Amino acid sequence: MIIVKKFGGTSVGNVELIRSIAKKLAKAYHRGDQLVVVVSAMAKTTDNLFNLAYEITKHPSRREMDMLLTAGERISMSLLSLSLLEEGISSISFTGSQSGIITDDHHGNAKILKVNAFRIHEELAKDKIVIVAGFQGVSTSKEITTLGRGGSDTSAVALACYLGADKCEIFTDVDGVFTADPRIVPHAKFIPEIGYLDMLALSYSGSKVLHPRAVEFAYRYKVPVEVKSSISFAPGTMISNDEVVKDSPMEERNISAIAHKENILRYQIEPSANALLLLDKWHHEVFKLNMLKQVVEIYIEEKYESEIDYLLNESGIEVQGKERNIGFVILVGLGMAADPAFMAKILRLCEECRIERLSHSERSLELMLPSALVARTVTILHHEFFGE
Ligand code: ADP
Ligand code: ASP
Ligand code: MG
Repeated sequence: MIIVKKFGGTSVGNVELIRSIAKKLAKAYHRGDQLVVVVSAMAKTTDNLFNLAYEITKHPSRREMDMLLTAGERISMSLLSLSLLEEGISSISFTGSQSGIITDDHHGNAKILKVNAFRIHEELAKDKIVIVAGFQGVSTSKEITTLGRGGSDTSAVALACYLGADKCEIFTDVDGVFTADPRIVPHAKFIPEIGYLDMLALSYSGSKVLHPRAVEFAYRYKVPVEVKSSISFAPGTMISNDEVVKDSPMEERNISAIAHKENILRYQIEPSANALLLLDKWHHEVFKLNMLKQVVEIYIEEKYESEIDYLLNESGIEVQGKERNIGFVILVGLGMAADPAFMAKILRLCEECRIERLSHSERSLELMLPSALVARTVTILHHEFFGE
């Protein structure tokens, strides 16, 4: 069996954790599995590197930023490979570029164009465990790129797809996917199985547990993904094609989970010809975009503020409005679309949460509110729909 296993930042946060992962990988290797292991940078490393750049400039070159940030994953990949060698297992680490992850040239938020991982096949054939630096690739013009924050999940799913892996396991610091972020709702319920489309809605709505593009990739190419604990290695949440049919009456509302997003900044700009030209070549990560007749609203994480300020200013675009501390709470599931009574019920439940906007899609109901009230709102809604 070929299995791609991905370990997130906290899971490889120190040398002890890396050693213990190597020991567990050694067991899987001796069982006969062919292993490709994708790693993130050690906890906080990417943020620290990011902050270092901002100590030097408020608008770092995106190319140099990618050179800097990709260094994080090089550290963890080589430390894991060294730990495996200590376990007596031959292993080799590759950067994204060496693994053949080819991307477009959108530094900081590059998309994967193709995977050409023949070197991984060659090394697997020599019975090695192959370690790959997540979150990175190389552009067609041979520049090093990154896939956007949290992008190691996407590296893992893309490699699993290319290798025709039997499974892609995403090891992280929680036991799987829960009905809400367990950091906000400690008694949130574990979800043993979730369909691709619900997971997609959750991740695009801010659920950090999986990178949204990883879920999109998995859904497109039908890659079986499991999210599980890097401490216990116990069975986690399976993300697969089958929508889970709960034992609820036929068309009854079915809420799968609650996502949230905090600290969002909203820019409002006029949809001038200039602004549309800028959007044509926009490469930054955006949380949400609304285009109205009079105004384009761009919702973006606050950490990108100085970069976006610079970009808008450089493009000669006048900012009509800029508001910070915006938050979102999003119910994901079925049977909530265009249901006025349900919307009224939500507004009543959250009457102290200063809801500014309530909108829906076929799979979600979205509340926009002040960031400071997000945790409280998630707790109220979780209590209502999932109980204590
Ligand atoms: P990694 O470094 O392993 O990629 P992340 O921090 O990116 O880990 O994602 C794991 C985190 O996702 C958890 O620590 C948890 O706080 C958060 N999270 C948000 N929503 C959920 C959810 N519905 N279920 C589980 N975890 C969630
Ligand atoms: N190290 C990168 C980040 O912190 C990628 C990842 O963790 O997936 O965003
Ligand atoms: Mg992550």
